[in-house]
Amino acid sequence: MKAETFDMVVAGGGSAGLAAAVSAARVGARTLLVERQGSLGGMATAALVHSICGLYRLPREKNAPPELANDGFAAEFARRLCAEGGAEGPVRLGRVDVLLHRPAAFAQTADQIVRETRNLTVQLHSEIVAGDADSLTLGCRGGVQTVRAAAWVDATGDGVLATLRGAPSEIETNARLQRPAFIFALGNVASASLGDNGRLRLARRIVDAVQAGTLPESALGTHFRASPQPGEAFVTIDLSGGEDFDPLDAGSLSALETQGRELGAGIVALLRRDEEFANCYVAAWPSRAGVRESRRVLGRYRLETTDVETGAQFNDAVAFAAWPMELRENTRGPKLRFPTGDEPCGVPLRSLRARDDDALFLAGRCISCSHEAQASLRVIGTCLATGEAVGFAAGLKSIGAAEDAIAVRAARARFAA
Ligand SMILES: Cc1cc2nc3c(=O)[nH]c(=O)nc-3n(C[C@H](O)[C@H](O)[C@H](O)COP(=O)(O)OP(=O)(O)OC[C@H]3O[C@@H](n4cnc5c(N)ncnc54)[C@H](O)[C@@H]3O)c2cc1C
Repeated sequence: MKAETFDMVVAGGGSAGLAAAVSAARVGARTLLVERQGSLGGMATAALVHSICGLYRLPREKNAPPELANDGFAAEFARRLCAEGGAEGPVRLGRVDVLLHRPAAFAQTADQIVRETRNLTVQLHSEIVAGDADSLTLGCRGGVQTVRAAAWVDATGDGVLATLRGAPSEIETNARLQRPAFIFALGNVASASLGDNGRLRLARRIVDAVQAGTLPESALGTHFRASPQPGEAFVTIDLSGGEDFDPLDAGSLSALETQGRELGAGIVALLRRDEEFANCYVAAWPSRAGVRESRRVLGRYRLETTDVETGAQFNDAVAFAAWPMELRENTRGPKLRFPTGDEPCGVPLRSLRARDDDALFLAGRCISCSHEAQASLRVIGTCLATGEAVGFAAGLKSIGAAEDAIAVRAARARFAA
């Protein structure tokens, strides 16, 4: 079989992979972006995650206006999404600013940016099934294809490419692993019904239904949010996944999907008994359940919990992590650990490079960090920023140019219009 050769390949087209591929192509690397789903965006589209966190610094004062944590691709993507009506905000929720987006619009904006980018080939419906130091094997509908490149980015979220290339990774124990969740869209809902009081009332109804035995206890992890789209709302069910939950196991993942849909249908049936929600319906199930944490690949530096907590700064920082550590180790809602300093933590280029593999770069939620640090770094705004940074670094390396943090920062300044 003849192998096709690119300067570089990005594995996974979530927010990190999209940013990496576009950035690599912009510096002149002939880039292939490989994605197994039918659209780009990863969790932000397929799992129906509907708000972008980590785009803005924590406000310095209570009424201070939102301030971007990273310029460059993260800012560009947010600006375009808003301009096309796909997002609303920023909205201040307590001590943080978020951008509420529509997953369908996220996918469209990603398509538009890709369409405008020279040197970039996007291959959807292509699953990475094997790999070694020099090549990667992609599968599509029973066909296989080999690709070669001078540099590689693992943006699969699960460290798939790193594992296939033999790079070591770590994974948190089941007891502390961030819990998964199942998000679905609800149609025909009056947004006014989902204010603070409305959400409290719904929470009460779910508790009552659990006590009465009409819903299982796992329904207690349910929460609601109105969407920027009138008449639409999102329902998130935090799930434990069970004692043996393994985010890399097909059996565990299958159980999440069927449990999510069963619970979702039960919750909608309960809602429809309420006058205000009598005509609501399931507008969309996710293409896949949401997994917050799996493999973290070992890099040249492991970004530690204290780094995020104290806002550590690094000479080779190429992005900033502005979101607090949002721990979801159980289904009782998030536990937020805010940093003690004023500055967002820097993300060093070393934590985006595989420890022992010169050609392998990392982006998004599988970068080199501790479990708690990942609870900050995994949010979409930060994934866009780490993706952009490694896209520049790997892209430059693949065409034989300098690939250090100075070169990455210069590339960001050049393309941050
Ligand atoms: C339930 C839930 C709620 C969340 N809420 C928020 C929130 O409100 N705000 C926020 O900012 N963040 C939130 N997050 C976190 C955030 O959505 C993710 O951490 C982030 O989107 C990860 O981006 P990524 O690009 O690293 O990975 P992903 O989005 O997971 O993308 C990885 C991509 O790689 C592809 N891929 C994987 N393996 C292969 C393979 N073998 N071959 C080809 N393609 C492959 C996948 O299909 C996927 O598209 C939430 C996460 C979850 C699960």
